[in-house]
Amino acid sequence: MPFVITDPCIGTKDSACVDVCPVDCIHPRKDEPEFATSSMLYIHPDECIDCGACVPACPVAAIYDSPDSTPASQKALIEANAVYRVGDTSAVEKAEAIVKGHMSSRADLMAVAPTERAAAHAR
Ligand code: SF4
Repeated sequence: MPFVITDPCIGTKDSACVDVCPVDCIHPRKDEPEFATSSMLYIHPDECIDCGACVPACPVAAIYDSPDSTPASQKALIEANAVYRVGDTSAVEKAEAIVKGHMSSRADLMAVAPTERAAAHAR
């Protein structure tokens, strides 16, 4: 079961997770052109080896250890992680459209500071 990045990453994009991932499955990296315009970072579900290294590295607790453990408010972002492919404009646009939809539908969460957003997931 792949790990999933959720909405505390929106507006954060810290990238500490990218630095610790042993299989380079988190994108976009800071050196990739998509980074500047990406709303958040994404984990490629087929490449993730479930090592867990990214979870403690994330300063905003944005990463859940499986789709099943991802809170109900974040379920749409499972698909965003799944469709994102760095270097594939269509896939990037699809993922970003899902994220924009999430941001619109969960304005309540977006109003919470990224550092507090994970705590708000459980409410
Ligand atoms: Fe990378 Fe491991 Fe996190 Fe999967 S669980 S995204 S392999 S650091």
